[in-house]
Amino acid sequence: MSKFLSYKYKNIKPYVPGEQPQNIDYIKLNTNENPYPPSKEILNIINENNLNSLYKYCDPEVSKLKEAIAKYYKVKKEQIIVGNGSDEILAFAFQAFNDEKKGIAFPNISYGFYKVFSQLYKIKFKEIKLTSDFKININDYFDLDSNIVIANPNAPTGRYLPLEDIVKILENNKNNLVIIDEAYIDFGGESCISLVDKYKNLLVIQTFSKSRSLAGARIGFAIANEEIISDLNKIKFSFNPYNVNQLSSQIAVASINDIDYFNECNQKIIKTREYIVKKLLNLNFTILPSKANFIFVKPLNLDAKLYFSELKKKGILVRYWDKEEISGFVRITIGKEEQMEKLYEITKEILIENKILKEGI
Ligand SMILES: *Cc1c(COP(=O)(O)O)cnc(C)c1O
Repeated sequence: MSKFLSYKYKNIKPYVPGEQPQNIDYIKLNTNENPYPPSKEILNIINENNLNSLYKYCDPEVSKLKEAIAKYYKVKKEQIIVGNGSDEILAFAFQAFNDEKKGIAFPNISYGFYKVFSQLYKIKFKEIKLTSDFKININDYFDLDSNIVIANPNAPTGRYLPLEDIVKILENNKNNLVIIDEAYIDFGGESCISLVDKYKNLLVIQTFSKSRSLAGARIGFAIANEEIISDLNKIKFSFNPYNVNQLSSQIAVASINDIDYFNECNQKIIKTREYIVKKLLNLNFTILPSKANFIFVKPLNLDAKLYFSELKKKGILVRYWDKEEISGFVRITIGKEEQMEKLYEITKEILIENKILKEGI
């Protein structure tokens, strides 16, 4: 820390991203990236014309991409804001709607950025405990005196709240903004975008990073009623009007228009998820029901941290948190079928080496 850092930031604990090793070739199941490449339609974007237009600033309204998203989700363009990843949209939303008086509540086990943003922007926040089996009890979220943010499906548990539960939370928080972070909704859940016209207290945030294989392009978006979006634009245009770069926004248009490929990849991931769940259940793992592109698992009689480090030694990266409530679990991203097959074989090896499983089973 230099002597110049403002007192405001001295105690901030930044978000810790999962490892992105640049030279070792791991089977990478640690940051919920999509194992399949993005739509091939994107190749048509990168031509000389587009390269030559990079001398200009990009469209601050990101109009073309908003039009494509509006068409896909059957909402108005004015109900959409696009960001440099959904993390940026979350940051805008935390700044726009919360402060030291009206704070925000979220589950104690959820996406790590909610707490980081609360600290960064000096927002009052409240962490609400999950049940002992890692569920969100919706009654805990009724009639709060703060806004709410919930990841649905939740991370890193993978557990999903059906639409009727989201409706109940909205109905019981008429004066609070309810932010639903749908980073993983395309892997088997139902989006609550259909509710934004009816519920003026709903803000839905999604990303191209997971289900559209574009984590590196940094594209996220939010959908709500027009007033909420205009509040978010107030923050965006006070911070960085050119937040979404030209190439990324064109790439995202090509991606969202390739509906067949999108569905095909998501279906494959869902199928692979069900496959590996079955295999690990046979090895006596505890597995939370997941509607995401990852599973949250606890091996029987094997320390989760040891399982994590043994996997890493053998070339597979997964995610482990040294946080009391979840220290018995690791989170495994759903990769391609052959990668999960390898995970299964290596897991068996580790169980045998630790005398939890006998050879030949
Ligand atoms: C991955 C993730 C995001 C952030 O995604 P971006 O890459 O910034 O779009 C947001 N919320 C949750 C719950 C996530 O897991």
